[in-house]
Amino acid sequence: MNTAEHSVFSGMRPSGRLHLGNYIGALQNWVSLQKEYRCIYCAVDVHALTDMQGEATRAIQSNVREMVLDWLAAGVDPERSLVFVQSQVPEVMILHTLLSMVTPLGWLMRVPTFKDKVRQLQETEESVSYGLVGYPVLMTADIILYKADTVPVGEDQLPHLELAREIVRRFNHLYGPTFPEPQPKLTEYPLILGLDGKQKMSKSLDNHIELAATPEETIARVKTAFTDPQRLRRTDPGRPEVCNVYSLHKLFNPDKLDEVYQMCVSAQLGCVDDKQLLATGINKTLEPFRERRREFAEKPGYVEEILQEGARHARVIAKETLSEVRDKMGISETSL
Ligand code: ADP
Repeated sequence: MNTAEHSVFSGMRPSGRLHLGNYIGALQNWVSLQKEYRCIYCAVDVHALTDMQGEATRAIQSNVREMVLDWLAAGVDPERSLVFVQSQVPEVMILHTLLSMVTPLGWLMRVPTFKDKVRQLQETEESVSYGLVGYPVLMTADIILYKADTVPVGEDQLPHLELAREIVRRFNHLYGPTFPEPQPKLTEYPLILGLDGKQKMSKSLDNHIELAATPEETIARVKTAFTDPQRLRRTDPGRPEVCNVYSLHKLFNPDKLDEVYQMCVSAQLGCVDDKQLLATGINKTLEPFRERRREFAEKPGYVEEILQEGARHARVIAKETLSEVRDKMGISETSL
């Protein structure tokens, strides 16, 4: 593992296979940061319980495997980075409880993503679980358990990181300098819109394209994408600057960008052909990723071994930090 001075932590919820937004918005940075930093990447299964309950939770184990295969195929290298499952390092739950003692409830209730999530779950602030309110506290514990100072995430996570910094400042003020303030690290495109062209690409909104989709599935998904809403007839000139399909060309057809622009504004290229061109670009770009993923998926026990080894290493760091925190908070294991 790379032991550079800074340390990087990030997690993703095991909700299944990853989509283009996860890749462009976060995973690309996970991969590139490995060259310089000590990186720790976590499948945050306990966080998945904030909106999965009962029968649905049976999918978590297989979701972890699918997601980790995506990480590996994208270039996360277990020789250089720690890769593990959150619940396999139970120290994080203790740190979460301890941090919850220094986190005012008002801070949590004000987080904009909390309000959004309450709406999305069709609940009220009174009826949502205690765990959902505390989501950013657990996220803070995830990060600072490893004293990470750099957190590669998409733009939607910025409010959580702001809160993490506030919790750290409060802790450091009360108990002395202990944790660095974690800073976000965004990619060049930190917010990818979904196929509806309005909301962020997200699995729960079903407006996404999976990285590991087949070429045919990708073509079918891209066909559902919204383009310029004012372009009603094939002969109408398009407006690439308001079209999400054009934004995606920037990522998947960079060499055809000028041509697509000119042909769209002059109505030589219709939306149907435009989308076909995009699907071809996505499939071409992702083919090596998909091939690597197939190879990793065929190696028996490969993902499981990586996760076991990762958790073993992560626990060594976690125990050290937790013992320091317990000591500072007056509940040391060795004081009696
Ligand atoms: P989802 O929102 O699909 O449930 P997660 O919340 O597990 O995904 O997010 C995993 C990572 O991917 C986070 O760093 C998040 O910021 C990033 N991410 C998710 N969706 C997008 C998106 N549409 N654009 C950019 N980054 C995203």
